[in-house]
Amino acid sequence: MAFSLAIFLVLLIGFAVFYRSIPTPKPLYPLVKVREIENILAKYFPYYQQLLLPQKKEFLKRVMQFMQQKQFIPRGFKPVTLEMQAMIAASAVQLTFGLPEVSLAHFKRILIYADDYYSTITRKYHRGEVNPRLQAIVLSWKSFVEGYADVTSGRNVGLHEMAHALELENMIENEDYQFFPTEAQQCWKGLVPYYIEKIKRGEASFFRDYAATNAQEFFAVTVEYFFENTVEFERQHPELFYTLATLLNQNPLVNAEIAVG
Ligand SMILES: [Zn+2]
Repeated sequence: MAFSLAIFLVLLIGFAVFYRSIPTPKPLYPLVKVREIENILAKYFPYYQQLLLPQKKEFLKRVMQFMQQKQFIPRGFKPVTLEMQAMIAASAVQLTFGLPEVSLAHFKRILIYADDYYSTITRKYHRGEVNPRLQAIVLSWKSFVEGYADVTSGRNVGLHEMAHALELENMIENEDYQFFPTEAQQCWKGLVPYYIEKIKRGEASFFRDYAATNAQEFFAVTVEYFFENTVEFERQHPELFYTLATLLNQNPLVNAEIAVG
């Protein structure tokens, strides 16, 4: 009896040591900050507002992961607020919500200007851009906010720049590489020149003219319409709409059905 008690105690101590050695995941943020981020999304981010509760949890988790992975750099003002970080991260998560393995890994920096900024290269004012060499996504906070203030305008610089980053990410050989389904990508490549020509001829008035600049701008602009003029986009150009939905693995018309796990 004493012997079996000794074995039991040894096993118990062994288990306790083993249990203690299992690393507990470090929380991303203190609870009070999590609540603050949650409140920002609930107040200002329409995409988040229409999600079901389990999806909201997943969305929030991914927003916080994005915030931790990226360096937010203010340009000409101070400081970058929690609201700026959460909203910009949320636009990236919105675009990639159907692609849970994609974190825009190449882009390590988010450069933020308070307003539209002058580029000495293009000699124009910019609302945003993506710079793969600097591994940076650049945004004018003023224009970013305007994009989410009216989510039916079809203009959203946050989604636009994230779309450029996403398309590049698919080509850059790293952990985020070739995540677009091949068949859908081929289909998309086949449709783009046809639509660009249509816009140039003034026949596809649904998309703004800027979409016809090149294939990259076409992708970025259609992403804006995909989230902001969803119903009309699907009605007018279903083939293009469903190809984009396949690429992004989500459909804003039925996003409540996205499985999270
Ligand atoms: Zn662009």
